[in-house]
Amino acid sequence: MRPDFDIAIVGYGPTGATLANLLALSGVSVAVLERETAAYHLPRAVHFDDEVMRVLQTVGVAEAMADNVHVNPGMRFIDPAGKLLIDWPRPSGIGPQGWHASYRFHQPTLENLLRDAASRHSAITVRTRTDVYAIDEQTGHVRLRFENLAAGRLGSLTARYVVGCDGARSLVRRLIGSENDDLNCHEPWLVIDALLKRPRPDLGDHSVQYCDPSRPATYVRGVDDRRRWEIMLRPDEDGAVMSRPENVWRLLSRWIGPDDAELERAVPYMFHAVIAKAWRRGRLLLAGDSAHQTPPFLGQGMCAGIRDAANLAWKLAAVCRGEAGDALLDSYETERSPHVRDYIELAVRLGAVIMNASQPGGRDGQPVKMESIRPRLGGHSTRPDPEGRAAPQPLLSDGTRLDDRIGYRPALLRRPGPLAAGLSRSGIVDVADAALAPWLDEIQAEAVVIRPDRYVARAGGIAYCANWEDLN
Ligand SMILES: Cc1cc2nc3c(=O)[nH]c(=O)nc-3n(C[C@H](O)[C@H](O)[C@H](O)COP(=O)(O)OP(=O)(O)OC[C@H]3O[C@@H](n4cnc5c(N)ncnc54)[C@H](O)[C@@H]3O)c2cc1C
Repeated sequence: MRPDFDIAIVGYGPTGATLANLLALSGVSVAVLERETAAYHLPRAVHFDDEVMRVLQTVGVAEAMADNVHVNPGMRFIDPAGKLLIDWPRPSGIGPQGWHASYRFHQPTLENLLRDAASRHSAITVRTRTDVYAIDEQTGHVRLRFENLAAGRLGSLTARYVVGCDGARSLVRRLIGSENDDLNCHEPWLVIDALLKRPRPDLGDHSVQYCDPSRPATYVRGVDDRRRWEIMLRPDEDGAVMSRPENVWRLLSRWIGPDDAELERAVPYMFHAVIAKAWRRGRLLLAGDSAHQTPPFLGQGMCAGIRDAANLAWKLAAVCRGEAGDALLDSYETERSPHVRDYIELAVRLGAVIMNASQPGGRDGQPVKMESIRPRLGGHSTRPDPEGRAAPQPLLSDGTRLDDRIGYRPALLRRPGPLAAGLSRSGIVDVADAALAPWLDEIQAEAVVIRPDRYVARAGGIAYCANWEDLN
């Protein structure tokens, strides 16, 4: 039997919406099933990075998003005496990925842009107010059973694969039977969003981690007049009580008072650090918070979900189009799980600095300098550099951004010059441009093949690259 859709996505948060767009760009049909009516109207994530902006560029929403961000100058960790423990400046200019390294943003703006983009794809069918409650794996497809919450009616649909982008309490993860690997961080924090009523430039544009064991706290400058504080709760404090306005203003009193701002919300969260032990069982896969959760000290939870979507979409599409075997999907977990683990473990280590004000191994009196973190796909792979790393995105000689030239496809990148007969392969875009020369010189390669997710699949001689067959 022919399934109703190629892919069913459970959950229309940022991960599900990104995945739906990328799959539609690859020409496969998608059903998105989401319990809620609309995107969650309050922000959770406030930061994303250049690699995520590059995925948004592929989806077609980067320019609109760029009008709604604040470029983040960096993060500072200070001890109770005001001494700088860690300095993490972020470059102010456009970086190698073709975008700034770090952005502040308003999550509902991004989610609505992703949904608008999805609404322009006829290959995407979105069913909101639809609660998935069962998934049965059958020969050649899965059947999802759901309740239409508006009508109170039960229904079902079939798809070749289902991806659970259904968040931290994922049904799909439970159906896969995957337990979480617990990375030992379960901390109660109060998340407060405030809207400034008058300018307060003294609060600063940098994020600040107040590493004070008696009351660890984070300050984040949001877009426009939005400001975020995340404040750790003590074991004897009740989150519901601490969320009351009088207690919130008491906690905020060292920074602002009711004359400066109005409270948008104050919500207690338990920050967790967990990774699903299995991201796939047969035709069921996980992406986003269903597969991993991180404390937000690096602002990487949503970023990781969007990277999952970018890694998975082209593989699912290749399998659905019959261009690759089902085994290609196994590389999704082996590539993504160690990558996200690196970020989560670093977030947990930084959380320990914030909560204990401990100097993280720097020379006495000197703040530690954080370098940009960029783990490699598949963890500590033995593959030669730069395979498994994101390729840079230069402006090409005609001023076009590299990814815009390529589209959502693999590409052969090389210096200008004719390509020997027999080396061109259908489906791979050949980009021969002088703007690529500095990078090729640096990595001492004649050519590079990048996958649709912009990660380097092969680097070396032209024949080695141009004969790239294995979609891996
Ligand atoms: C305080 C805080 C600060 C954060 N800061 C950052 C940050 O700065 N940067 C960053 O990158 N990340 C940050 N994060 C993490 C980020 O918010 C999450 O990682 C991200 O929102 C997860 O997206 P998702 O699409 O995977 O899941 P979700 O956004 O949780 O979406 C899951 C969706 O699935 C739906 N669903 C669930 N079950 C079903 C079902 N059975 N049937 C139908 N629908 C279902 C839900 O209704 C929901 O819409 C932060 C998180 C918190 C809490």
